[in-house]
Amino acid sequence: MASVVLLDIQRMSSEDGPGLRTTAFLKGCPLNCPWCHNPESISFKPQVLWHGTRCIGCAGCVKVCPLHGIELKPGGLERSSACIGCFACCEECPAGAHEGKGHETEVKALARQLVKDRAYWGKDGGVTLSGGEALMQEGMVDLLCILKFAGVHTALDTCGFVPAARLERALAYTDLVLYDLKLADPVEHKELTGVSNAVILDNLKTVAAWAVKGGRLWIRTPIIPGATDSAANISGIAAILNALPEGAVERWELCAFNNLCGAKYKSLGLSWAYEGIPLMEKAMLEALVALAEQTDCCPNIRWTGAAQRTADSTS
Ligand code: SF4
Ligand code: SF4
Repeated sequence: MASVVLLDIQRMSSEDGPGLRTTAFLKGCPLNCPWCHNPESISFKPQVLWHGTRCIGCAGCVKVCPLHGIELKPGGLERSSACIGCFACCEECPAGAHEGKGHETEVKALARQLVKDRAYWGKDGGVTLSGGEALMQEGMVDLLCILKFAGVHTALDTCGFVPAARLERALAYTDLVLYDLKLADPVEHKELTGVSNAVILDNLKTVAAWAVKGGRLWIRTPIIPGATDSAANISGIAAILNALPEGAVERWELCAFNNLCGAKYKSLGLSWAYEGIPLMEKAMLEALVALAEQTDCCPNIRWTGAAQRTADSTS
């Protein structure tokens, strides 16, 4: 049976579908969005995060790196871009300062690990497969199949830029699809994510057809300042949803920009284009929801996540 490259497992998640869920994050994404709040999920290769505040300066990692690719400098640690992700530095470090991301896992073993959480799922919860882009890994269809036959509620969080045949096979074992629609305009989509949205919109039609036959489809739009937060973009996405079969979309979530991931970029030795950008104002998120509601494209539209605290706000 196939293996997959696992990034992480998040337990007790309440934001990746109904009920309490276990979310498995897979490594690798075909898009390259500058606002990504999981930068360690973009590359398909194993990577190492370095947490400088934990380092005690023992130089153990420097000695074990087979590439001699680690240097300790006054300003911090530098890792060679040729890093092969062997994780020798992670095993050697006595302080847990190196954190390896991207472990190859056999699909059956991963399924066994996920099903252990069944006790807290209740009647609504289950497993969500996310990423990166979970469906870029062939083994995800096998994983969904095993989970479905084990009686688990399965949700698939996808960016939609995936092989159409694999998506169709995955839908047979999926209860709920969380489908990202970031930008309606194909040119802007290419400029900001690296790919056109043509494949994404084609695959959306497949998922919508599946949804009207008994599946469930939630749309998710990250609301990113200066990128996806315009009225034109929200109206454009609403028009796309309105062109889908009646009743296909159960919910549309406008996911507020999250600025908590700056430390992750630093740990990877990367700069982040959104460093220092504050959370969005609640009034703006509510205005976008009101605009979307006027279009009658979906019966349930809401914003999710956190907004700026103001005198009249508790979010
Ligand atoms: S993961 Fe391996 S190659 Fe990469 S820095 Fe650590 S020891 Fe070196
Ligand atoms: S092994 Fe860990 S504690 Fe020692 S220098 Fe490397 S990162 Fe720092």
